[in-house]
Amino acid sequence: MDDCIFCKIINGEIPSITVYEDKQVKAFLDISQGTPGHTLLVPKKHVPDIFAYNQQLAETVFARLPKLARAIKKSNPAIKGMNIVNNNGEIAYQSVFHSHIHLIPRYSENDDFQ
Ligand code: 5GP
Ligand code: ZN
Repeated sequence: MDDCIFCKIINGEIPSITVYEDKQVKAFLDISQGTPGHTLLVPKKHVPDIFAYNQQLAETVFARLPKLARAIKKSNPAIKGMNIVNNNGEIAYQSVFHSHIHLIPRYSENDDFQ
């Protein structure tokens, strides 16, 4: 997709800080960190939202979550938990229409994430 920010991140036209990458997915730091380590997991194939996934893509992308979540948690002993969030549609606060899953580390009851 020509005009998609996340496709541009995937093909290297826009810089990002990579957390994990393989043939099918990329994970990179969110430009606006809800809490430190806030990461986005995206399929390399452009799909706008969950409604456009086929079963195979869903298994590919969602199966990466436990390992990625563990790796992020292991990277900082201060991380006590994690919110995993996937917004679909403007009404659900999706702002970038290349499907992505937020992994938001949680540090304490008083960390910044609402
Ligand atoms: P959404 O609101 O669609 O669930 O989340 C989109 C996320 O993409 C937001 O948290 C926003 O900060 C992040 N984002 C938007 N543009 C960029 C960018 O150019 N680079 C990175 N790394 N994150 C972005
Ligand atoms: Zn895209």
